[in-house]
Amino acid sequence: MTRRQLTLAAVALLLAGWGLLPEFSIAMLNYIGLYALVAVGLVMLTGVAGMTSFGQAAFVGLGAYASAWLCTDPAAAALLGLAPGSAVLPWVGLVLGLTLSAAVAWLLGSVTLRLSGHYLPLGTIAWGLSLYFLFGNLQFLGGHTGLASLPALSLGGLTLRSVRELGLLTWSVLLLTLWALHNLLDSREGRAIRALKSGRVMAESMGVDTARYRIKVFVLAALLASLSGWMYAHLQRFVNPTPFNLNVGIEYLFMAVVGGAGHLWGAVLGAAVITLMKQYLQDILPSLLGSSGNFEVIVFGLLMLLVLQHFSDGLWPSLARLGNRFLRPDRLAPARSLRELPQREPAKKGSVVLAASAVSKRFGGLMANSKVDLQVKAGEIHALIGPNGAGKSTFFNLISGVDDPTAGEVRLLGCNMHRQSSRAFALAGLSRTFQHVRLLGSCSVLDNVALGAHLRGRSGWLATMLRLDRPEEAALMREARRQIERCGLGPQMYAAAASLALGQQRIMEIARALASQPGVLLLDEPAAGLPYMEKQALARLLTQLREEGMAILVVEHDMEFVMNIADRITVLEFGQVIAHGSAAQVQADPKVLAAYLGGFDGS
Ligand code: ADP
Ligand code: MG
Repeated sequence: MTRRQLTLAAVALLLAGWGLLPEFSIAMLNYIGLYALVAVGLVMLTGVAGMTSFGQAAFVGLGAYASAWLCTDPAAAALLGLAPGSAVLPWVGLVLGLTLSAAVAWLLGSVTLRLSGHYLPLGTIAWGLSLYFLFGNLQFLGGHTGLASLPALSLGGLTLRSVRELGLLTWSVLLLTLWALHNLLDSREGRAIRALKSGRVMAESMGVDTARYRIKVFVLAALLASLSGWMYAHLQRFVNPTPFNLNVGIEYLFMAVVGGAGHLWGAVLGAAVITLMKQYLQDILPSLLGSSGNFEVIVFGLLMLLVLQHFSDGLWPSLARLGNRFLRPDRLAPARSLRELPQREPAKKGSVVLAASAVSKRFGGLMANSKVDLQVKAGEIHALIGPNGAGKSTFFNLISGVDDPTAGEVRLLGCNMHRQSSRAFALAGLSRTFQHVRLLGSCSVLDNVALGAHLRGRSGWLATMLRLDRPEEAALMREARRQIERCGLGPQMYAAAASLALGQQRIMEIARALASQPGVLLLDEPAAGLPYMEKQALARLLTQLREEGMAILVVEHDMEFVMNIADRITVLEFGQVIAHGSAAQVQADPKVLAAYLGGFDGS
């Protein structure tokens, strides 16, 4: 049995049992489905994209109140030109709730998502609290008593009055959402979302618009919460502020974390565990302790601590490991067609591709780079060397858009790159590796390298969710495989990137950079940590790329390596160029010899 077959069997079982299960079980299942819908948004937000929100219950509230108000206030219906009690009202309410939630999430996100660290969680707490009190204080929303007598949903002439009927809608929506999000994560867009967690610099250098993706994930999570709130309101048939309190927001986050914050199905597991546990504790504790009170909250908190201590990644990964022992992996159907990826016109050999003129960078009183001139030509390996602290990494950041020069000009393939972002540099045809490797540790080498090809695809979220991106995805994967093979990492293709030796991770970064088909390749210490044989393989790869017309700039400490492969060498010391020329010229330069007191020993 494969994992997909098991999933389908479980869904079939659920469907078959739907008519037979007792009312109470169906009610529980319905709540689990509603909560899981919110939690799965939090899995995307927290586990996958690395942003924490405590305020998700407020979005549930927005979804619930929007429809409740529209359906119960005759003035609201009149505003739309509809008769009070019209069966269309809840659906208009859904649209209103989703629109409001998206707008609020977008506004809130554009304020808080730019801030780093704890500001986002704090912002969501503030937002969660204020919306809760707003619900309670607005007279037209019924204050703390709330709004009652909401109509049941009707769908194509069918009225969903009982939990059994509405639960079918809940679970259909949940399963569809899981399917769509699974598709989203298994794609170019999914890789970009995962890259958000590993910091801005790497993702932006691969061409990912991190600010935009963060907002989009935030809005997505808010929409799912709002949708859940809408169904909840029409299940309860009344709303008041209590279920949208900050405590409940924390509970939603618990569901995502306990289930397994990085896994979509973890949200369903977390919602089930927490809903059932709360129910069970509420039932047995009073009789066990012989008195009534909210003991379940305390016991619940303690149990949560225990779970989190023993399963820090949540429960789902353990369950999945167990499952993997009995399940065969799914065989992926090959894509029926490939969409050709856009190709970059190669620059003419010998033409200047990247030119830095009088580039300076000042950090306070320190001139880290002072009037540095450097040109990289197509079909040439240019090495930048210099003692530690000479300003090489600073220069790399200036010519890749990570940092802006204090003075001077950088031109890339003919364009002036003044104050451009690293994403703009990537778009213009520059790709780089990092001195301290930056990768998605839990993702495979294949996924990491495919992230490098981000800018060569263009499928949006909706197309991806509906699996319309397959021809493009197949082409991106083929390109990633090609680069991995070419860099000699074929045997590690499906290994988690974090499991590779450091030297191999550096090679993986080169493959990732190549997947973008760059015009210029910047390599920051690519040979560091490589054993002799692999260093030679790297040298062969770089010379082959040179033959193909690539412009390569490399910072490297291994002098033997540099002298063997570099056509030209620029030497930096204290931020200034002290020598420039061929390997022989540079090695004979007295200023260089003085800078490298003790000779070229490769240190
Ligand atoms: P290299 O890569 O050649 O070893 P760097 O470019 O990392 O050298 O550093 C050059 C100089 O600039 C060093 O003296 C370093 O301390 C300083 N420096 C680098 N980055 C910063 C920064 N963000 N703020 C202040 N000083 C910096
Ligand atoms: Mg450095």
